[in-house]
Amino acid sequence: MSESGHMRAAVVTVQHLVKRYGNLVAINDVSLSIREGEIFGIIGPNGAGKTTTVECISGLRSPDSGSISVYGFSPRKDRDRIREIVGVQLQESALPPRLKVGEAVRLFASFYPNPLDPNELLESLGIRQMEHSAFKSLSGGQKQRLSIALALVGRPRLAILDELTTGLDPEARRETWSLIEHMRDRGVTVILVTHFMDEAERLDRKSVV
Ligand code: ADP
Repeated sequence: MSESGHMRAAVVTVQHLVKRYGNLVAINDVSLSIREGEIFGIIGPNGAGKTTTVECISGLRSPDSGSISVYGFSPRKDRDRIREIVGVQLQESALPPRLKVGEAVRLFASFYPNPLDPNELLESLGIRQMEHSAFKSLSGGQKQRLSIALALVGRPRLAILDELTTGLDPEARRETWSLIEHMRDRGVTVILVTHFMDEAERLDRKSVV
């Protein structure tokens, strides 16, 4: 494939990925290649191995076999570099209920050498007015916006969003989608895990597992 012209370079490549949990084969020979600045979807029904795939890409799990490269780095061997490059959306249960929105974003910002300005980020995601609110008091849509803020505050080159719109009403899903497109337009490569086939239509490219 030519990298000149309009084809952008692959920044994530996964080759022949296999992951087992005991006797269960969670991922059986998955290969994919993601280009810089695209929204790439990983789609499939519950239990298909989507989360396991992105956990291997972000270095949270070791594959049994296969190879993964993220911006030229190995998720397991180059953990420090991967942490700077990849922003992972937390599952909802991962935040303490009484933590305030502003505190959460500033805490996450402190992990990175060159973070985005927390106030501007909250403003651009439409939750600046919730800065002093506890996490547990947020609506579903506001929690999603906060999780996007936490995934983005370190200026990742790759953002991994897992089932981001699950549990949201259609209006909140639309808003979340415009935020994802906004991220892409800022040059962030996005991996979106979803089991919604209609969302798949909005993706730049996808891999069905
Ligand atoms: P998806 O994200 O597509 O729903 P997962 O990657 O979460 O799929 O899970 C794939 C399969 O692996 C499922 O059958 C699930 O039950 C199993 N699985 C996931 N995590 C573990 C684990 N930590 N231990 C054992 N089995 C697991």
